[in-house]
Amino acid sequence: MLCVMLNAFLDLLLPQGCVGCDDPCGPLCPGCAAVWPARRTPGSPQRGLPECWSAADYAGPLRRAILAYKERARTALAARLAEMLAFTAVTALGGRPPAGRVVLVPVPSARRAVRARGHDPVARLAALAAHRMGAMGVCAVSRPMLALSRRTADQAGLSATERAANLHSSLRATPRLRGTPEGPLVLVDDIVTTGATLAEASRALRAIGAEARLAVTLAATRLRSSPR
Ligand SMILES: [Zn+2]
Repeated sequence: MLCVMLNAFLDLLLPQGCVGCDDPCGPLCPGCAAVWPARRTPGSPQRGLPECWSAADYAGPLRRAILAYKERARTALAARLAEMLAFTAVTALGGRPPAGRVVLVPVPSARRAVRARGHDPVARLAALAAHRMGAMGVCAVSRPMLALSRRTADQAGLSATERAANLHSSLRATPRLRGTPEGPLVLVDDIVTTGATLAEASRALRAIGAEARLAVTLAATRLRSSPR
């Protein structure tokens, strides 16, 4: 938390350059942000993954922006990244407001990761993106309906099969509040590879009778045989 506050303070005091190109119009200049159109993530091998849309490939300025925001608590990037996420979600919904409020469901981070980073990057993005979608004419709300039900090993270095096993039944969902008429559920995460995490999130929602129609992420890595 101290790190987040310090970074926010430094951004105010000494505005830093764009993470993409060092332009003084930081933290992410319009030029670096403008090149990312939303698109559907092509054929994932991950079973149970809802239709997934991402703002762009996990490369170049977007990759640098995500890393700076997530790992170095450059929270000044949150608004710009949330705008991309909102645009991606609205595009995925076909540009038309659905019946009822869209419910953005952030994929949860491990508590130890939140502690180490000093913030919960995906939860923050989902909340800001819901607000931004409202300004785009699509009523949306962020609901953290998912929680980790057990610890998982670090995914890095695991094979596809090992990763799927590592994540299986690692999330649980809490039901929506009764009496609040709401529209489609949309899963939100920062990055998708083959979608093991999103598939597990989708499974947890189905276990309580809820269905996520779509998943949206900021970035998609080149789909390999190994899920995130
Ligand atoms: Zn730039």
